[in-house]
Amino acid sequence: MNNEQLIALDQQHVWHPYASMDNPPPAYPVVGAHGVRLHLADGRQLIDGMASWWCAIHGYNHPYINAAMQAQMNDMSHVMFGGITHEPAVRLAQRLVAMTPDGLEKVFFSDSGSVAVEVAIKMALQYWHAKGQANKNRMLTVRNGYHGDTFGAMAVCDPVNGMHSLFASVLPQHYFCDAPPLGFERPLADTDLDELEQQLKDNHGNIAGLILEPIVQGAGGMRFYSPAWLKAAAILCKKYDVLLIADEIATGFGRSGALFACNYADVQPDILCLGKAITGGTMSFAATLTSRQVATTISRGEASCFMHGPTFMGNPLACAVANASLDLLEKSDWKAQVKGLEQGLKVHLAKAAQASYVEDVRVLGAIGVLQVKEPVDLGRIQKMLVDEGVWVRPFGKLVYVMPPYIMSPQDLEFLCQGMLKALAAYFEESP
Ligand SMILES: *Cc1c(COP(=O)(O)O)cnc(C)c1O
Repeated sequence: MNNEQLIALDQQHVWHPYASMDNPPPAYPVVGAHGVRLHLADGRQLIDGMASWWCAIHGYNHPYINAAMQAQMNDMSHVMFGGITHEPAVRLAQRLVAMTPDGLEKVFFSDSGSVAVEVAIKMALQYWHAKGQANKNRMLTVRNGYHGDTFGAMAVCDPVNGMHSLFASVLPQHYFCDAPPLGFERPLADTDLDELEQQLKDNHGNIAGLILEPIVQGAGGMRFYSPAWLKAAAILCKKYDVLLIADEIATGFGRSGALFACNYADVQPDILCLGKAITGGTMSFAATLTSRQVATTISRGEASCFMHGPTFMGNPLACAVANASLDLLEKSDWKAQVKGLEQGLKVHLAKAAQASYVEDVRVLGAIGVLQVKEPVDLGRIQKMLVDEGVWVRPFGKLVYVMPPYIMSPQDLEFLCQGMLKALAAYFEESP
């Protein structure tokens, strides 16, 4: 198949994320990915600023991860998890328990982030049901959140910009309050949690859990907020007898500069969702962790068990790869890598701060965000970015990068410059 045929057949048959099938824009055929570079079929190489949506923290095609995958394939790629166990899963669970905030002891494996969120919500509902408080069956969440695309997860995404308003009439209705005020270092004001507390005061009899993305709101706005706010929210959850569910699918494993974003506030959630970087970007995999108390309560409830069991639960290949990714993370100085990226991003992106089309520049850990004043036309800017030799995929007004941790200062500079050049060209050409 030559490149043109591939693109044409792709447009004819293959649906892409949030894509139209009516005259879809051409996708870029990729034939390989090594380190921080994507190799296009037409011979060009792009510096990758997306890490395939937060995932490829060690870069692509890592020989250590590949070796672990091959070794596991020689034993077994998959085996059902009902009534069967294996060392890759047990080791991974043990390590996740050890590295995540205190109190999380029980691990439920699943195949994607959205499912990990569904599992978390179901755990919270089953917990209160088992305690004889079945009325506590709604979630409380903050606006600008993003928790996935399945129905349960959609229902706790931002109701307006969460890409799901179309489905509002069929989604379960939850409680929302305003997003935490912007700014990682913003001092907490007296009134910052008033709305949250009012919701809890009024509705805690119906609220099973507060679900949120700690410190970094990702796909719902790329917003950073303060550890002080998170800490105060966690205290309110205890006060009003509501579970705290931390969705660290995007932030987990160092991305925000802390191993888990909850660590910034020294918060111990009752339920924690992990995904994305858990396998270093190699396979689809996720986990939901909870405390002994929640797990035991669920298990002593009417059902005597947790009512969930995906077919590919605990997939050995994914567990082996996740263990290899954790080995790399532990052996690396990820904290220094992320700090280095943070400093580089601050320096390079600051150059755009004064541009007429830029509304805000913000950086936390290995996450750099340029918020522009007008939503960008993706098809047009994507080509300009690729022509600059970088892979960045803007979303609305957000032009952002979250590079692999291993990116060199030179490649980071090239990435940021390419992004700024493409943006400058894009806005100068705008009518
Ligand atoms: C990506 C994401 C999800 C959904 O994960 P999928 O693997 O795409 O289903 C959920 N929550 C957060 C915070 C995410 O960033």
